[in-house]
Amino acid sequence: MKEINPYIFETSIKLTETIPLNVYLVKGEKELFLIDSGIKSMHRDLMDSITKVGGKLKAIMHTHSHHDHIGGNAQLIEETGCQIIAPQTHAHWHYDWDAHYSEFARTFPDIFADTAELREEVFSIMDAPHQVDHFCKEGDVYASENGVTLACWMFSGHLLEEAGWYESKTQTLILGDVVTLLDAPFIHGHLTVQGYRDSLLKLEKFLDKKPVQQILMAHFSPMSPVEFKALIERATQYLDTIERTIINQLKKAPLDLKTLWQQTCDALGKAREFRSLSTVNAHIKDLQAKKKVSINFEQKIEYHGP
Ligand SMILES: [Zn+2]
Repeated sequence: MKEINPYIFETSIKLTETIPLNVYLVKGEKELFLIDSGIKSMHRDLMDSITKVGGKLKAIMHTHSHHDHIGGNAQLIEETGCQIIAPQTHAHWHYDWDAHYSEFARTFPDIFADTAELREEVFSIMDAPHQVDHFCKEGDVYASENGVTLACWMFSGHLLEEAGWYESKTQTLILGDVVTLLDAPFIHGHLTVQGYRDSLLKLEKFLDKKPVQQILMAHFSPMSPVEFKALIERATQYLDTIERTIINQLKKAPLDLKTLWQQTCDALGKAREFRSLSTVNAHIKDLQAKKKVSINFEQKIEYHGP
């Protein structure tokens, strides 16, 4: 466990050599809040952190409901009686694991077969299905008597709905995956391009308007506002690069989604896996809305532009 400041503590593991997974514990007067629960193997470390910091775990405030953010919930509910608070849109992923699997990993079942390996990848890091007690929405504030507060700010992009939590006493913004991994060997994934762009602008405005000392994220080291603004800029360029790469493939010839996804991954040097397929599909929907592409009678995507 690492102390970020006197009221926020980080428990961390390595998901891969280069990708950390950080879970943040926030200390109220007598009660504690976790921002996400990580994966199921982090349980003992999280319980140790709770014991060291001292107090009762009141709730797990989720950023979003991906398997690597809700994986330890059932054990924590069992051991502490904590409540589960999460954005509504994907909240059924907590208890309906079939939906979690099909909506997350098999949006295109013809391209991604139901295999033991895929099930293992999605399910093996979660402990057990569980209920969500409350849905969070923008403007919700959970306040403790010691002045620690957690205010909910909603974003989209990586998922259709994701919460960020602002702690005002320490002026800390705690995020999940609103800003996705940009340098991973795979495309971390986004389901709405415009949502992602809007969220990056919202974060920039947030930094301009609110006092922020530090930004904490699930898969990045803590950042200063200056460092985080540079990350926002890189994320904007990342979206532009993916869009440009997709258009470059389509300029050569109309392509079906599977071929476009494969060529785009290869051109970007990213793995061909399900997150990148959902992402390429999101870009196609975005380009369709902007009337830059259409789907022809052969189900191929055609580019209309210079
Ligand atoms: Zn995620």
